Amino acid sequence: MTDHVAVIGAGFAGLCMAIRLTRAGVTSFTVYEKAEELGGVWRDNTYPGAGCDVPSHLYSYSFAPREDWSRAYPLQPELLRYLRDCADAHGVRPRIRFGTEIVAASYDEAKKRWELRTATGAVHHARVLVTAVGQLNRPRFPDLPGREDFAGTAFHSARWDHGHDLAGRTVGVIGTGPSAVQFVPRIAPRVRTLRVFQRSANWVMPKWDYRYGPAHQALFRTAPGRLAFRGGWFALCDTVLYSAVRGGRLGKAVEYLCRRQLRTQIADPALRARLTPDFPLGCKRVLISDDYLPALARDNVELITEKLTRITPRGVVTADGTEHALDTLIYGTGFTATEFLAPLTVTGRDGRLLREETWADGAAAFLGMTVPGFPNLFLLYGPNTNLGNNSVVLMIEAQVRYVLDSLAALDREGRGELEVSSRAYDAFQRRVQEALGETVWQAGCDSWYKTETGKITNNWPYRAARYRTLTRRLAR
Ligand code: NAP
Repeated sequence: MTDHVAVIGAGFAGLCMAIRLTRAGVTSFTVYEKAEELGGVWRDNTYPGAGCDVPSHLYSYSFAPREDWSRAYPLQPELLRYLRDCADAHGVRPRIRFGTEIVAASYDEAKKRWELRTATGAVHHARVLVTAVGQLNRPRFPDLPGREDFAGTAFHSARWDHGHDLAGRTVGVIGTGPSAVQFVPRIAPRVRTLRVFQRSANWVMPKWDYRYGPAHQALFRTAPGRLAFRGGWFALCDTVLYSAVRGGRLGKAVEYLCRRQLRTQIADPALRARLTPDFPLGCKRVLISDDYLPALARDNVELITEKLTRITPRGVVTADGTEHALDTLIYGTGFTATEFLAPLTVTGRDGRLLREETWADGAAAFLGMTVPGFPNLFLLYGPNTNLGNNSVVLMIEAQVRYVLDSLAALDREGRGELEVSSRAYDAFQRRVQEALGETVWQAGCDSWYKTETGKITNNWPYRAARYRTLTRRLAR
């Protein structure tokens, strides 16, 4: 049997696709999910304090507003519950084939359909393939010698070992990105000693998190109230935070807030100096937290900025030759974000391999979604669609709408295939890379937005609003 649509992944993007397909009356589709539960990053990241630093009214589907978010920035359990509720409310759970990892997808030119192979060797077919596997799903570990020799307990932040009690332990954390700044304040009071290994200081802006009280709840029970709140946040992110991305003047206001917070939360000038970034605000993903810096100022927490050289059975060695003894090592070292679609093997026309050949110099796609030579393939949250200033759910919804418009065009025009032209793809890449060159992301720092050669493959250089406009028209 050939499905009309196959979706790979049941996280924020895959569920959005499934819900919108259902609402559009498409019944012939299957969502393949490798895990036994939906939720993507909100299923995998269960570390203490895991949550979203984008306000929930903006970090949620426009078609499924929630009246009763508990706070401005909900924690992971509430976000996962939201996704489960959305799946159940729209009846898409039966469409999800759990425990089914797709390892290969090849386009059959004669039959004009995709052939999908699972990890167990089963084969499925679909006319249209939509990938929704995210950018931040495969943990990255530092390339340090001796990693396997560590005799204590070690785990990655996205695979938290909840069976390991941290109380009274000497714990090391490698990495100080958005994940670490959320769990460091939670574990610091529980452990005996916490050693935070920081490679680069980053900007920390205040979160000003708060619980919603009765007045907010009353506002959110009305559609205009919710819309105004969401719209307000959207506008703020697409102006002030966008200005930071472009190195603009409004971004200076954010930098002022970061500097002020650092000054008021860290009394020791030497520690403050080590926490002051040497690159412009926004070059790396800005950290958003009220309690990270105070955690570093605790007596039982040590910030270590010496370069790491190796891992031993007893702990971690830094360039000055010191061995820092640890009984637990936590990797807050992020994800292999530039390896789009890995480890999936995607084969298009003429046996061409997407990751290994077409993307040999880094992933790219027209509007982050389509690639010439790969007909009827759509990527959700694909290359150059991550935002540094706004909710990525906005991008996902625009992409899902684009896919639905493409399906309608396929039906309307009685065509078997839809494929972007090389001309449109090349021109788009040129424009995007040019615009990226003018952003703060190229202002002298490394980040997960870039490949090893420095090409930015992950981020969208314009406002989120512009993406929504551009995706309203189908391009061939
Ligand atoms: P990340 O941003 O990639 O940060 C990884 C950290 O590990 C960085 O501090 C990095 O240092 C450090 N690191 C990596 N390799 C190292 C090495 N060999 N030696 C020493 N340090 C090393 O990862 P993340 O914190 O998991 O966050 C990833 C992304 O997930 C975020 O940017 C964000 O988009 C998303 N996220 C979002 C939220 C949210 O609230 N919305 C929460 C968590 C995560 P350098 O800075 O020097 O590279």
